Formats: sequence, structure tokens, C-alpha cells
Amino acid sequence: MKRIPAEYVYRAGAVLGEGPAWDEERQSLWWVDIERCAVHQFLPAAAEDYAWLLPHRVSFVIPTERGDFVVGTQRGIGRFDMRFGAFTPVVDPESDWPCNRFNDAKCDAAGRLWAGTMEVSEMPDLGSLYCIDAAWNVTRHLERVSISNGLAWSLDGGTMYFIDSPTQCVDAFDFDAENGALSNRRTVLEITDAFPDGMCLDARGNLWVALWGGWGVLCLDPRTGRKIAKVEVPVRDVTSCCFGGKDFADLYITTASRDLDAAGRTEQPLAGGIFRAQPGVRGLATRQFAG
Ligand code: CA
Repeated sequence: MKRIPAEYVYRAGAVLGEGPAWDEERQSLWWVDIERCAVHQFLPAAAEDYAWLLPHRVSFVIPTERGDFVVGTQRGIGRFDMRFGAFTPVVDPESDWPCNRFNDAKCDAAGRLWAGTMEVSEMPDLGSLYCIDAAWNVTRHLERVSISNGLAWSLDGGTMYFIDSPTQCVDAFDFDAENGALSNRRTVLEITDAFPDGMCLDARGNLWVALWGGWGVLCLDPRTGRKIAKVEVPVRDVTSCCFGGKDFADLYITTASRDLDAAGRTEQPLAGGIFRAQPGVRGLATRQFAG
């Protein structure tokens, strides 16, 4: 298995860095620090980072077609306007579950948002996976999810990849792009020595899977289950990744420091930082929300 180095690009010191999304228009990497309730914009060209504090834990920030952002929080999903730093709640399908929060999310080819939830202390089976269409209609597709993560779609759009981290499995569904229906769940790869977290697809149709507890990002072919490469990150808890930069040749990687003890923090001074690797394959643009 090929080994690929990662360089750190921003010493963010995040508690739980997550949810990277590339913003082609602003040439920026958007990301969140969930536990600090912060939305971040990192500009690689200037090596500058800006942060906005929201009133709730925030788990994803995705550009929309109208130019603002859709964000997921512990109080539902809403719009974020960077000009004013304002969060406007729109839908909260779990308003009667205050200890649940949104977690990872991605948009499908039709611009629908797919977003999952979890219980904040990681109690099992309390989360769900939702689809939010451009009119903000919410449909629940999966129940009894523990930590909803890692959404991606195959190049032909016919398969959706999904991770419920405690299962330690990367799963696939047949995906009906017309109506967003999921069927035929099966496991692509079981990861025995770490917890799969966020992931993205490259232009060859391979998955790049962040490994919580696994010191890196695993590249695998979901059609065969074969492990192809590993990006090595000098931080134990690697949370997510997305492609960006010129020609989408850069893989940006988020990490966490939350669960490190004093010795771990000394050994991993870059924990919570943003890293970048050049894996030699191009990725795909972050899909925008149509709503
Ligand atoms: Ca995650």
C-alpha cells in the first residue's frame, strides 16, 4: 500500500476540527470546530483563517447555490451568512431531542443535502440520516444510526457510500438519483484498527476515508474493497477530508485534539490542525446545496 505524506497548513488547535468543504468561488476551505461552535474559513493562498462563533455546536458548513452556506447544528439546520456572521435556523427535525446534534453532511448530484445526527455523548442508535431537498422538505431515510458520517456517491451516481463510525464499516447503498431512495445496504470494507469518519471520492471513483484513531486517511476502491494508499498524518484522530486547490489536486484534512491526554498533546502538537496532501489523483468539487 502506497504511503503519502501530509504537511500541516494551519495550526488550528481545534478541539474537534471537522466538515471540510472547498469553496471554488472564494478559493477557501471551510471547516468547523464542532465543540467550539465555530465556523472557519481558511484561505490557503494567504495562510489566513477566519472564524465565526455560532450559538450552538456546528458540524458542517456547505456553500449554497445562492452564495451563502447551509450549516448543521445542535438546533437543526439553517443558513449562515458570512457577511453578518448570522445563523438563521430553518428546519429542526429533532427539536424534541435536545441531546442530539447534526453531524456530517454532503450534497448529492441533484443538490439535495444529506445530513445525519448523533447523540452528543455518543450513546448508540439515537441518530438518523435525513435528506433535505431544495424546498427544505425533510425526509428521514435511516434510523438507529450511532454516529452518522462519511457520505459520498459513486461517479455514476448509482451508489451512495455511508459510514456509521462505531460499526467500523464503510457501507454502500443502491441510490435512486431520481427520488433519493436507498436500498440494498452492504459493507464495502471493515476497518479493524480504527474508526472510519468523514470521506470523499476522487475522480477515479476511489474513496478517501479519514481514520479516527488511525493516524491518517485511507484510500480504497469501493468496487473491490482493495486498500490502495494511506495518507500519513502526525495526529491520531483524523476526522474528514475533501479535495480542493488548483485542479482539485490537494487533499485537505481535518483533525481533532479532544480525546488526547496531556502526554498525547505533547506528542501531537499539531492535533486539531489542518493538513494537506498531494496524492497524485484529482478530486471532485464540493457539491453545493440547491436550497
Ligand atoms: Ca465526522
